[in-house]
Amino acid sequence: MRFDTRLVHTGGGPDPLTGAVNIPLYLSSTFEQASPNENKGYVYSRTANPTRTSLESAIADLETGQRGLAFSSGLGALATLLEDIPSGQRIVAGDDLYGGTWRLFDHHRRQFGLSVTYVDPTSVDAFAAALEAGPTAVVYLETPTNPLMKLTDIRAVSALARRHGARVVVDNTFASPVFQRPLELGADLVLHSTTKYLGGHSDLIGGALVAADPAWGERLAWLQNALGAVPSPVDCFLVLRGIRTLGVRMRAHDRNGQAVAHRLEKARGVVAVHYPGLGSHPQIELARRQMSGGGGMVSFELKDGERAARRFLKALRIFTLAESLGGVESLAEHPASMTHASVPAAERAARGISDGLVRLSCGIEDSRDLVADVTRGLQAV
Ligand SMILES: *Cc1c(COP(=O)(O)O)cnc(C)c1O
Repeated sequence: MRFDTRLVHTGGGPDPLTGAVNIPLYLSSTFEQASPNENKGYVYSRTANPTRTSLESAIADLETGQRGLAFSSGLGALATLLEDIPSGQRIVAGDDLYGGTWRLFDHHRRQFGLSVTYVDPTSVDAFAAALEAGPTAVVYLETPTNPLMKLTDIRAVSALARRHGARVVVDNTFASPVFQRPLELGADLVLHSTTKYLGGHSDLIGGALVAADPAWGERLAWLQNALGAVPSPVDCFLVLRGIRTLGVRMRAHDRNGQAVAHRLEKARGVVAVHYPGLGSHPQIELARRQMSGGGGMVSFELKDGERAARRFLKALRIFTLAESLGGVESLAEHPASMTHASVPAAERAARGISDGLVRLSCGIEDSRDLVADVTRGLQAV
């Protein structure tokens, strides 16, 4: 089956019991046992729930992994993964990360002696040097990065990491499996905030992990049950429903991302546009190699700093000023004071997140309306 067909049919349906075309919502915390410890595979819904099983098998299928696990949030998935890294070990990570990821790494560093080495995500040499410098448990990548849309060469870094006995984890939230499949490029684990494109409608919080190695998947499943950061069956149902339209939605997000990025590129007062679908993106060759679309996330820098950013955001009528991304509706935000406020100012400056940076999540509206809205914002700057 081709990818768009799998999006519609994956997850084990129709329901074997009734023929319902959607796997039903199993709102049950516990399951009857025929005799002590004799059951139909379900005992207690923290451990496993049939609606969640359907979602987990769907995500594993789409990311071409051996084991999928669903969580109550993207950070719940990350926290569970971090429990698998013994204290004192080291993570090598790109230095442009989701703010909450940075915050959790920093907490584990202080609390449990995790060591974290940050490197330039665009430089394979920088990853090589960090791996040479000492034993590494995990290489942690976000590509494209949030909010600067930098790329890491997943294939090259995965090959390097393998030689050093380190596992590679890729946060694939921005690209989604429609545009990028890290496990096919040699990564060991994919992380998602299903809150974003997989859910796709800004109506839930969720996360997922997909492991290429069934043994690692089994250990993470043990931790998923032991820690309990699991999603409700309702949220699992909604993410599955989102997945059905992921293909058509991602193409609409991509069309709008392209249109908005091109408009911004021509604007006076804009000093940089960050979008991996633009010919001017410094890593466009890599983008074409490992991604099949630029997606809906665009960030850009206004010459006149925070004042200009605030004016731009205030003038918008279609883009809603809000954190988050990946929903059908377009959102705009100011990373320095919103999504990345948890990264200290000095760190932000060092990483290039300026006060004039604006991040857009282009939804699936008509491109012409979005371009007109961005033009309205630019005129107010
Ligand atoms: C939102 C996000 C997360 C965190 O996910 P939650 O569902 O909000 O916990 C992690 N990584 C990226 C890239 C994100 O955008």
